[in-house]
This record gives sequence, C-alpha cells and structure tokens, in this order.
Amino acid sequence: MNIIEVQNVTKKYSNHLALDNISLAIQKGVVYGLLGPNGAGKTTLIRILNQITAPDSGTVLFNGNPISRKDIEKIGYLPEERGLYKKMKVGEEAMYLAQLKGLSKQEALERLKYWFIKFEIQNWWNKKVEELSKGMQQKLQFITTVVHRPDFLILDEPFSGLDPINTNLIRQELLELKKQGTTIIISTHNMASVEEICDEICLINKAHKILEGNLAEIKQRFKENVFSLTLNSERAIPAFPDKFSVMETSSSANQHYYVVKVQDGGSANQLLQFVMEYGNVLAFNEVLPSMNDIFIQQVNNSTIQQ
Ligand code: ADP
Repeated sequence: MNIIEVQNVTKKYSNHLALDNISLAIQKGVVYGLLGPNGAGKTTLIRILNQITAPDSGTVLFNGNPISRKDIEKIGYLPEERGLYKKMKVGEEAMYLAQLKGLSKQEALERLKYWFIKFEIQNWWNKKVEELSKGMQQKLQFITTVVHRPDFLILDEPFSGLDPINTNLIRQELLELKKQGTTIIISTHNMASVEEICDEICLINKAHKILEGNLAEIKQRFKENVFSLTLNSERAIPAFPDKFSVMETSSSANQHYYVVKVQDGGSANQLLQFVMEYGNVLAFNEVLPSMNDIFIQQVNNSTIQQ
C-alpha cells in the first residue's frame, strides 16, 4: 500500500521548470530518501507534499485519495529553514507548537516530557530559544515535528548543523519511528545517513527523476566487479595478471590488503585462486559502490546527456 503517490507533477516558477512530470510512489513504513544536487527540485516537491504550494499539473494521492487539508495533521514536517520563535521560552514554544498540531494541553505536556527526558534536555524548558545553539534548536524542532505522532514524516535536511553525536541520536530516533510504522521521506546530502537509514531512494536532477528504487538493489545494479581481500603472507604479491586491476593496496607486517577490479573475462573465483597461491586469505569481500559514488556518477551522466 502506498501512502504517497505523486503522479505526473509539474511545477514552474515564472520561466523556470522546477519539476518536470515527476511520478513516484512511497510505500507505507519505508524510509524514502529524496536526493539530488542543489536546485534539483527537492524542496519544491516537499512543499507540494505539504500543500504549501500546489503543482501546475499532476496529482498527489495520500492513502489513495487526493491529498487535502485534513491530511495535514497526519503529516510531520521539518522544514530546512527552521522557524522557531526566538524570544519564547523553550517549554512555552514546544507546548504552543504541540497544541497547534491538535494535541490537548495535557497530552502535549505528557509527550513533551517524554521527549525532553529522552533527549536529556529537561533543563532547557525555561531557557529562551535564542539561548540555544543551532544544533540544540534543531533537536527542539525535531521534537515538535514528531510530537503528534504523524503517520508520515517529511524531513528536509534533518542533519544539517548537527554534530556527529546528535546526528546519530536523530538517526536512531528515525529508525525507532520507522519500527513503529511511521513512513519517512528525508531530503539530505548526508550520504552516510542515506546508506544507514533509507530503504528506497529517488534521485532527481534538474527537475527530472533520474534514478529510483530499493537502495540495496540499486547498489547491486551499479556494482563493478570489485573485491577487497586480505592476505597473510611474508611478502606482497609481486604482480597481478591483466584481468585483475589493483585499485588500492596497503601492507602492514605480514598482512597485505588489496582492492581489485576483475575485468571482463575474469571471475571472483579466479582472483581467489590466484591470491591463494601467495598465502592465507583472511578476508575476501565484494565491494559495492557507495551511494555517494552512485549519486555523483548518475548526476554527471544525466547532465551530460541533457
Ligand atoms: P532543491 O531543494 O533541490 O535545492 P528547489 O526545489 O529549492 O531545489 O529549487 C528548484 C529550482 O526552482 C531552483 O532552480 C530554484 O532556483 C527554483 N525556485 C525554487 N523556488 C523558487 C521560487 N519561489 N521562485 C522562483 N524560482 C524558484
């Protein structure tokens, strides 16, 4: 079952085409990465999903029906531009935003207490928002995005401005929300996070969708017969046959590490047989391309083709 279906959506700003006939579907319960270089059209699509702006043509379905204002309370949105009232006290602001999402005062207080304890930020309650650092404000805004337990979360660059510890914290929370059944669409340039939390991705470039699908399948699709291996032997392998191109190598004591691309006509088994002649093979693994590499390669290819 798809929670979101974007069907042939086009959006133009004066003369600039921001989205050109984009279609995509997001299954319930997945973490969906919306990727693309700056200016690709991601924010425009997110704003359409949030009904902040309307498409010029095309349709968005939410749970199978055209999306409407009543769906807003089922959606949690963390915008890239963080809009907190800086002069308010943290607790007051959190209460205000939680009640704006339809929670009663009592519910808002209970749930915020839960989150403030969980994030160990109880002592922020009476501080002014402006006293918080950018990263701290972001944590607060994350809480106010999820406090009403939306079915569908839209997060625009949720990790920007966060240190590694808080990035990890938010990542873990997103995985926890996913476990509870929340569907999450996340727009980010943080590819390590994409690798860790996304099930599906969609890559857009210059208003067009250029790649979509299951992350693990995409990595399989773009793999290039590359293997890493560790060999225990007194000396390094002096030379490899032409069908094995060594891309990387390092040695320490009796351990020799290689990353090797097997050219057409060669096989992983042949590589293994070859290196076994020189010592004990301690590790042998296929190397899949990183999402970072796939992103760069696909964006460059699609830009050249245009
Ligand atoms: P992304 O989020 O992927 O960086 P955006 O959706 O923000 O991309 O922008 C897509 C394109 O549309 C960009 O070229 C941007 O300059 C343009 N654009 C975005 N918003 C507006 C606007 N309100 N008016 C005019 N052009 C806009």
